[in-house]
Amino acid sequence: MIDLHAHTTASDGSDTPTDLVGNAVSAGLQTLAITDHDTTGGWQEAGAAVARLDVPFTLIRGTEFSCIYDDGDEQISLHLLGYLFDPEAAALKAERARLRESRLGRGEAIVDALVAAGYPISWQQVIDIAGGGAVGRPHIGQALVQAGVVDSVTDAFAHLLSSSSPYYVPKREMPVELAIELIRQAGGVPVIAHPWARRRGRILDEAALRSLVEPGLLGIEVDHLDHAPDDRARLAELADELGLLRTGSSDYHGTRKKVGLGSDTTSPEALERLLGLASGIDTVRSPVTG
Ligand code: AMP
Ligand code: ZN
Ligand code: FE
Ligand code: FE
Repeated sequence: MIDLHAHTTASDGSDTPTDLVGNAVSAGLQTLAITDHDTTGGWQEAGAAVARLDVPFTLIRGTEFSCIYDDGDEQISLHLLGYLFDPEAAALKAERARLRESRLGRGEAIVDALVAAGYPISWQQVIDIAGGGAVGRPHIGQALVQAGVVDSVTDAFAHLLSSSSPYYVPKREMPVELAIELIRQAGGVPVIAHPWARRRGRILDEAALRSLVEPGLLGIEVDHLDHAPDDRARLAELADELGLLRTGSSDYHGTRKKVGLGSDTTSPEALERLLGLASGIDTVRSPVTG
């Protein structure tokens, strides 16, 4: 089984990179991508964990970039997965740092608004929960759980943390066309993440998705928890028509989201194509071959 989208404590997942690798093996995965938000911070630890495994396993190093699409009159937030890009490519590296920096001020602004409304959490608490990882709303959700305000992070997203909440504050996002170009320049493979996750807010329509082929998009994450069956079917057709890779993934966040590793998967054929398109860095393989 192949799962190409998972988060760790380097961003808003609850597993350390070491635990993620162990849990991936336990879940029966042979290939896993680590894709923390706006950071490569978990790559080294995950790679070291894979080097210690005694079963065949392949790690794909990636990042989920916070992006924006401007359709002329409206700005739509979206996520772009980048796989196997050179982490030292300067422009992309600088942009990751800016995206993470912006998450700090924005997280504090959301917490300030919640505190002003009487919710008993603090910014220091959120910083402690994030533990040095890229700060995100799930960390604030965890603080709300600790404070007894909600039962789960998912419940926190239903109202308090949703993008339509009065407490919502946007963060920096990079123009998706630029992100695609920079990932390609760094030898990576850009794949649009959960493009039709409708409950998160406005989504890109088909014309917008088509427009991303020209800047260099290479794939669409078709099979994802947030996609309804008819949307998966249409996205699969669209990917085939546009000659794009089709991926499927869990978007695992450990205990911060109710989804297990391998809940959606990518075909071996799509993985082969992805590996053939990448020229930035290699995969990390365990010392045991299958
Ligand atoms: P942020 O990056 O700070 O804007 O927070 C977005 C993150 O929250 C994404 O990684 C999502 O996976 C996560 N998220 C979005 N909706 C939910 C939800 N309903 N339950 C749990 N996590 C969510
Ligand atoms: Zn996340
Ligand atoms: Fe995402
Ligand atoms: Fe994700």
